[in-house]
Amino acid sequence: MSTAATDVWGDQFNEDERALLAPFVTDLDAPIFGLRNLPEVVKGALFSRYSRSDKSLRRILLDEFIQAPESGFDAIVGGAATNGVAQIVATQQAEAFYERVLIGYGDDSVAELGGAHLACEGISNVAAKALEDSRIGISPLEKSTRYVVFNRKVDGRYRYLRETAIMASRHAAAYEVAMDQLFEAYSTLLEPTIAFLREQTPRDVATSERAYNSATRAKACDLLRGLLPMATLTNVGLFGNGRAFEYLLTRLYAAPQTELHELADAMQTALDTLIPSFVKRAKSERGRAHQEYLRGMRERIAALGDGGWRLGAGYGQPNPQPPSPIPQEVTLVDYEPDAEARTVAAILYPHTDLPLAEVRALAARLTDAEQLTIIRAYVGERASRFHRPGRAFEEPFYTFDLLADLGAYRDLQRHRMLTQDRQRYGVRHGYVTPPELDAAGLSAPYAAALERAAAAFETIAADLPAQAQYAVPLAFRVRWRIKLNLREVYHLAELRSAPQGHPAYRRIAHAIAAAVSAVHPTLAEGMRFVDMSDYALDRLDAERRLDAKLGRLP
Ligand SMILES: Cc1cc2nc3c(=O)[nH]c(=O)nc-3n(C[C@H](O)[C@H](O)[C@H](O)COP(=O)(O)OP(=O)(O)OC[C@H]3O[C@@H](n4cnc5c(N)ncnc54)[C@H](O)[C@@H]3O)c2cc1C
Repeated sequence: MSTAATDVWGDQFNEDERALLAPFVTDLDAPIFGLRNLPEVVKGALFSRYSRSDKSLRRILLDEFIQAPESGFDAIVGGAATNGVAQIVATQQAEAFYERVLIGYGDDSVAELGGAHLACEGISNVAAKALEDSRIGISPLEKSTRYVVFNRKVDGRYRYLRETAIMASRHAAAYEVAMDQLFEAYSTLLEPTIAFLREQTPRDVATSERAYNSATRAKACDLLRGLLPMATLTNVGLFGNGRAFEYLLTRLYAAPQTELHELADAMQTALDTLIPSFVKRAKSERGRAHQEYLRGMRERIAALGDGGWRLGAGYGQPNPQPPSPIPQEVTLVDYEPDAEARTVAAILYPHTDLPLAEVRALAARLTDAEQLTIIRAYVGERASRFHRPGRAFEEPFYTFDLLADLGAYRDLQRHRMLTQDRQRYGVRHGYVTPPELDAAGLSAPYAAALERAAAAFETIAADLPAQAQYAVPLAFRVRWRIKLNLREVYHLAELRSAPQGHPAYRRIAHAIAAAVSAVHPTLAEGMRFVDMSDYALDRLDAERRLDAKLGRLP
């Protein structure tokens, strides 16, 4: 038995030990290495030992897992090679061991040491938004309403949620008729819309048929997505860590919609087979108390009754006329008047050893020109939008009230580095009609289907306000607030004004950038990648670039 060289902590592994470790680490000697071929729970438990052990990770893996019978390591990892079910059973058998390690050697954050990929298929847009409301620790990706046409029928039926409470109520038939009419209008208008777009923006010789077809089809889907109701079924893939999943499940259980409870149950079942020790608390006594707390927050405010501030609620009341002229989409509600001085202080702070209050006082005494010099030096030459100024730009905050169609909300809700909260999905703010549909002479069937859905919403909402939200088409407006720092303003405005973006959110990105520039021109000066142009076919440039990558010529 030969002995290997010592590692960075002076540990030595003999040849037998090296052979045992080899399948599970990317390198047997280097101080920087990865773990492989290990279930999530083992990886999580292994890392959780870091905080309470003087040993190297390879030594812990060997002594406390591979060679410790109570860890069930052989069964878990050996079984995994040939049989996933065996691995799950073995993990469950050894759960007490992992519980002890995870709970004994860390705080709540140990549940962030294991993750899982989940596919959530055939869920409504209401549910997709609930999943995507997560900010830290969950990374979602959703089926696009731009690249996928949503008029496929399964067993002769359009794919939207027949919501349990609505279908059990006297509104079932009206709901199905209204939803079917929306999908019918979407299907009927698709080809004429594509034909109109092709006529308006003919293909030029520099553009391949593939790129042109993709761009016109994507544009038609964009124009018609307003017809899709929130009940439309979609797919969302999630990657997340255990702690984030546990909180997400707790929030779903606390929500008012049955679909979300069923989704939480189904997600819990899947996660219990993958990372059981990390998510078990969502339904434990502690988890139920947390659910109760979250539910209580909503219900206590609702129970306060109409103190005058709820006059806007509007459920069960006649649908007011859609506001005219078009309501203001973006309102900057507040910002810090001394944002420049605060930002300058934050820029200088790491370069001094003074307390923040003193640096702020110093920055406030600088002239405007001196402040500008410091801000310009900090921002430097940005070669692309990815060159984002640093954390000093997280000092100023801006609060916006937004009112835009649900399609735009759906897209912008995906930003996580901000605080955002919306009002209920409803119809009282009216709907948007893309000007292209007017120009194509196609807006009448579009409007008719939306108005029927609005009428169905109003009737259902009188009895089932939470469930009626499924009936709201994406063309209707919703109001939401966002509070974001300047660094995120740069990110959001530059990303969301890109040519391939949907015009609805590009307009909002432009208005956010303009509002910040108006109040803080010095701070906004570096926001150089906000694209203000209009594009007839948003996707065309992106498709041409794809052609170039594919090596295709027109
Ligand atoms: C043209 C376009 C098409 C799109 N199509 C689709 C689509 O088909 N399907 C779909 O689901 N979504 C789609 N999206 C949405 C996209 O996936 C993002 O969810 C959205 O743009 C939010 O951007 P973000 O994650 O960069 O920003 P934010 O959440 O605002 O975060 C800001 C920045 O913080 C950092 N950051 C934040 N969270 C994390 C994290 N967890 N890990 C690492 N870094 C993080 C990143 O640097 C990020 O850029 C599309 C977006 C655009 C612009």
